[in-house]
Amino acid sequence: MPRAKTPSSSATRAAAAPQSCVAVIGAGMSGVVCARTLAQAGYSVTLFDKSRGVGGRMSTRHSPFGDFDHGAQYFTVRDPRFAQAMATTPSAAKRWSANTVNVLDDTGHVLAATGKPSDSHWVGTPGMSSLLKAWAAPLGDGSITGAQVHVQSRITRVSKQDGQWALTMEVGDTEHSQTEQAAGFDHVVFAIPSDQAQALLQGSNLMPAWQQRLAQVIVDPCWTVMLAYPNASQPGLPHLGPQWNVARSTHHRISWMARESSKPARASVERWTIQANPEWSAEHVNDAPERVTAKLVKAFAEVTGIRAEPGHAQAHRWLYAQTRVALGSSHLLDARQGLGVCGDWCLGNRVENAFVSGLELALAMVAKDNAKTTQAAKLAKPAKAPKA
Ligand SMILES: Cc1cc2nc3c(=O)[nH]c(=O)nc-3n(C[C@H](O)[C@H](O)[C@H](O)COP(=O)(O)OP(=O)(O)OC[C@H]3O[C@@H](n4cnc5c(N)ncnc54)[C@H](O)[C@@H]3O)c2cc1C
Repeated sequence: MPRAKTPSSSATRAAAAPQSCVAVIGAGMSGVVCARTLAQAGYSVTLFDKSRGVGGRMSTRHSPFGDFDHGAQYFTVRDPRFAQAMATTPSAAKRWSANTVNVLDDTGHVLAATGKPSDSHWVGTPGMSSLLKAWAAPLGDGSITGAQVHVQSRITRVSKQDGQWALTMEVGDTEHSQTEQAAGFDHVVFAIPSDQAQALLQGSNLMPAWQQRLAQVIVDPCWTVMLAYPNASQPGLPHLGPQWNVARSTHHRISWMARESSKPARASVERWTIQANPEWSAEHVNDAPERVTAKLVKAFAEVTGIRAEPGHAQAHRWLYAQTRVALGSSHLLDARQGLGVCGDWCLGNRVENAFVSGLELALAMVAKDNAKTTQAAKLAKPAKAPKA
């Protein structure tokens, strides 16, 4: 877990970090990748997130019966740069040999058998958040000079102060938060969902043209329910319910079901994560969690035949879950202003899209800064004396 520290004042930051200072808002996949890449390139990076830890939608929810990946269920690794990054932390993610992902109808009959997936399904181990915890650790544990991680820090405004960027934030948990400021940044990266980035830019009176582009992006909500059946796992007994571990569904409420206990390095208590489909989630977005749980448990029973009462049931609402309409470019960067935007929604709705977006933004920032330095060096060079 990264250190949670009180953001430093502008004076301390400037004194402690002579190199270019970057604030990255959002510690999901895109933010962590962007921050790591910049830190490796020699920038002084501070990563902020409003949650209690890093991970964003690649998060893990604890329960007395074992953990749940209640956001991203698995991810694929097609870009060689993603594969290379994964190889640096081999124990933080493993292949999940989820057997065939079938599409089931309302009553659990197979509509389409998709066969063995061509891409491996990867999951963080022992939980989905483990991968980003491992990647963010060097930023927060002092092993990279100048890098810091601040969790429970919700950025509410970005403004200019003495020619550099300052962040206003609510620090601490929601009940005991206090307003603080961190200043002295040359660049600010917004690695947060498009709606939140748009709201933050708007509230900060920044980049009206970007605000318009972000308004075109559409991200669907998703109600997720986590179920545990502690009495179902008895030594020597077969699984409760179906013999498959993962299925999509055309049920009017549910689109996805996965047996959490089938993932590598997980506790063995029978646990399922159910995702409602985007239409149903949008229609019921303001329903009480108890009502959503009851409806989704009923639908789950219809599809799987599991009618036992779960020993644990919890709903989580993701307001910004999966991109329906993407931005169409990997990131936005205004190098002159020192502002950048990244996130999965730039390219699509997958973890790998977030990786590529964060990486491409960082590489573009480094390239622009290198070009500036080369230009400055050229200008500083004394002109050659003309030949006599
Ligand atoms: C239910 C669900 C299922 C999914 N299933 C899959 C799947 O099976 N496979 C797959 O590849 N992908 C899946 N995804 C998508 C995947 O999780 C995302 O593509 C990826 O995690 C997005 O990373 P990100 O960095 O772009 O954003 P996020 O992970 O959302 O990170 C943004 C971070 O910004 C923080 N933040 C926001 N506002 C502020 C603020 N003002 N101040 C400070 N911090 C702030 C948030 O707390 C968050 O940590 C799923 C997502 C959900 C929700």
